[in-house]
Amino acid sequence: MGRGGLVIDQFGRSIEYLRISVTDRCNFRCVYCMPEHGLDWLPRADILTYEEIADVVAQLAPLGLKRLRITGGEPTIRPDLVTLIGMLKAVPGIEDIALSTNGVKLPDMSAALKAAGLDRVNMSADSLRADRIAAIARRRVPFDPVEAADAAHAAGLDPVKINVVVMRGINDDEIEDFARLTLDHPFHVRFIELMPVGEMANLTWNHVVPSEEILTRIRTVGPLAPHTGPERGNGPAAYHQLEGAQGTIGVITPMTHTYCGTCNRVRLTADGRLRTCLYGDHQVNLRDPLRAGIPLKPLFVQALADKPKEHNLLQMQVGGLKALSQVGG
Ligand code: SAM
Ligand code: SF4
Repeated sequence: MGRGGLVIDQFGRSIEYLRISVTDRCNFRCVYCMPEHGLDWLPRADILTYEEIADVVAQLAPLGLKRLRITGGEPTIRPDLVTLIGMLKAVPGIEDIALSTNGVKLPDMSAALKAAGLDRVNMSADSLRADRIAAIARRRVPFDPVEAADAAHAAGLDPVKINVVVMRGINDDEIEDFARLTLDHPFHVRFIELMPVGEMANLTWNHVVPSEEILTRIRTVGPLAPHTGPERGNGPAAYHQLEGAQGTIGVITPMTHTYCGTCNRVRLTADGRLRTCLYGDHQVNLRDPLRAGIPLKPLFVQALADKPKEHNLLQMQVGGLKALSQVGG
């Protein structure tokens, strides 16, 4: 299975990137992600402790795991997240730790997260207007996404990527404003096609804005060229840059293209299930063996052998998912 220290799955993809969900809970209820009344939250005892998460990572690192992303739910609402970052950074072989967050806590937490070993951050922001942020998140939290991203960058988290889920008739009139942000901020703004999965507030295929349309609208802001700088992420975005801009623009197109052929990621849910594909039912319970002291390596190798060739999203088979927050997006 292993080749040069890397774990290679049956389709030749090496798996060196793990997304770790540390909680299924959130301080937002984004219309495309969670029902307004929330979900059936996991019982606390089912959720991996920080020691258990670090143990999983320590057992996977010798198999080639190098990069981690901490996600949720909203990871920053789990107490002492900074402690977990420090524990993971101390695992030999872990080179890079990223965080996915809605950004609310970035002004308060960025400096401590950076000091503990966090390398970079992806912030979700679907609007730059306070009223609309509250309408999409269905929570009114006093917070300015540009200030939050600035705070992260000032703390040394780099790059700062801003993920915008584009929804026709809801926030697509801000595509140009988000693009303009890159002119005088070193942010990487990434427009994401809405994935109409799970229990979403009446969002349908009619709300999906295809990437070509997004790019056409950005070109009204100024000349847009493919960005050829060094790729500093693990993700599937195609990058562009407005003339003279500090930052870049990406589009992520889960609905109109699939990335499965180059997928290099697996996911660990908050309750310790290893999911080898975002969609579908391919998952292995690591928590119970971990708590019983059983080595995880054979389970990991088996899970990768079963990693599907591609997902079924395009056929709208979503494997019983109610929300992406349940698997960390
Ligand atoms: N709470 C953190 C955040 O919002 O960044 C991390 C978890 S969130 C589930 C991870 C990512 O999934 C976010 O960028 C969010 O925009 C994205 N996401 C959730 N539901 C989605 C959907 N239906 N379509 C597209 N992206 C979605
Ligand atoms: Fe929470 Fe992130 Fe889902 Fe929004 S996208 S409800 S912030 S988990």
